[in-house]
Formats: sequence, structure tokens, C-alpha cells
Amino acid sequence: MAICTSFQAEGMAILDMAWRIDNHVRLFTVDTGRLPQETYDVMEMVRQRYGIEVEVYFPDAAQVETMVRRLGPNLFQKSVQARFHCCNVRKVEPIRGVLEGLDAWITGLRRDQWASRANIRKIEVDHEHGGLAKISPLADWTLDEVKAYNEKYDVPVHPLYAQGYTSIGCTPCTRATKPGEDPRAGRWWWETNAPKECGIHCPVETGAFEHELEALTHSRHQSPLRTVR
Ligand code: SF4
Repeated sequence: MAICTSFQAEGMAILDMAWRIDNHVRLFTVDTGRLPQETYDVMEMVRQRYGIEVEVYFPDAAQVETMVRRLGPNLFQKSVQARFHCCNVRKVEPIRGVLEGLDAWITGLRRDQWASRANIRKIEVDHEHGGLAKISPLADWTLDEVKAYNEKYDVPVHPLYAQGYTSIGCTPCTRATKPGEDPRAGRWWWETNAPKECGIHCPVETGAFEHELEALTHSRHQSPLRTVR
């Protein structure tokens, strides 16, 4: 079992809680090659503060080379499909490889982050990645609760929050948000009618079809894993 994080507030709260339970907790992240310097800074803060090894995974070099040669370094600006392709090569595939070796992964997803996350369970079977368990302990937390936890336990905070960022990913695809904007509005902000997802947490082709269908029908599966809210 391991925690997947991009060092945002939720992932940091999860890490802190897990570390207090077991200070040998496994933590992994993906270095897409386009991350802001501040993300590396907080990664180093985590190493110092918690004394753990951060498992950093990288995209397949040959896939990145082929993609950039064919479509250019800024392919994500050309079309939604090109952006999905970049996210798939740089993020989704590396994480898929990590998940193949796990029984369970822990995420910092919250239901009120975006429509495609509104029906996530605290524990669910991750059918997209071979049926391992996906655990999202903060599913029903608000952002204010996450911030309060991090403040209380003096958890390292990603420096870009202080510059108005409310969701943090790769440098060219993330901007600070303005007051009143949705917290994920700064991700791929030039796109319209595209899910603000990279494809790790829901298949971008369907826009989290399974979750949305369940919300519409209010259906409930009988699996005990499905009863944990
Ligand atoms: S967020 Fe942007 S740069 Fe990062 S993997 Fe996705 S499209 Fe590529």
C-alpha cells in the first residue's frame, strides 16, 4: 500500500496522518518533467521533515522523445486530445506501472474538488487499474478542514498556494486562480468542455461515467466496499 501525491494540501495531510501511524509509510509521486521548482522544494521539505524516501517515478523516456518530436514540446496547447496524450504519457502511464505492484493506493481526492469526483468513495475497487483498492480518506472533507489539519500539525505547505494557486500540477498547465473562480479553474484553463482531469482518477474518455451514472440513478452496489462513505 502506498500514498500517491503531487504534494498538494490534501496529499500532505494524508502523509502526515499516515506517518503518525507508521513512519515507514510509502509515498510515491511522478515527475512529469514539467513540474514547477516549488514542487521539488516541497518534495525536499517532505524528505527532511518526515525522514522518508520519496519514490519518484518518471515517464518512459522513449515515449516522451517520440511525442515531443512528433507533436512539439507544447502539444497540450494544440487540442484537448493532444493534452490528454501528454498527460497519458507523462503521468497516467507511469502511475499505472506503479499501481501494478500494489494491493492498494491512497489518494487525497475530495468530493467537492470537481464534478467528476462528487461520488468517490472512501474505499472502492479501482477497476481502471486491475482491481486494487483505492482509498480516499478525505473524500468528505472540505478544503478548510484540510487547511486546519495542516496548520494544526505544522505540515509543509506547497509554496505556490501563497501565490494564489488553488490546484497545482505541471508549470505550463497551471495558473493561479482569481477570487470566486472554481479551485480547479487554473488547470488547463484554456480548455472548454473538457474534464479537469489528467486521466489518473477517472478515464478522460468517459468523464468518470461510472460515477456520474451512479449519481443519476442513486444506485448502490451491494459490495461491502461500496458501503463506506
Ligand atoms: S499537465 Fe500539461 S505538461 Fe503535465 S502532463 Fe498534462 S498536458 Fe503534459
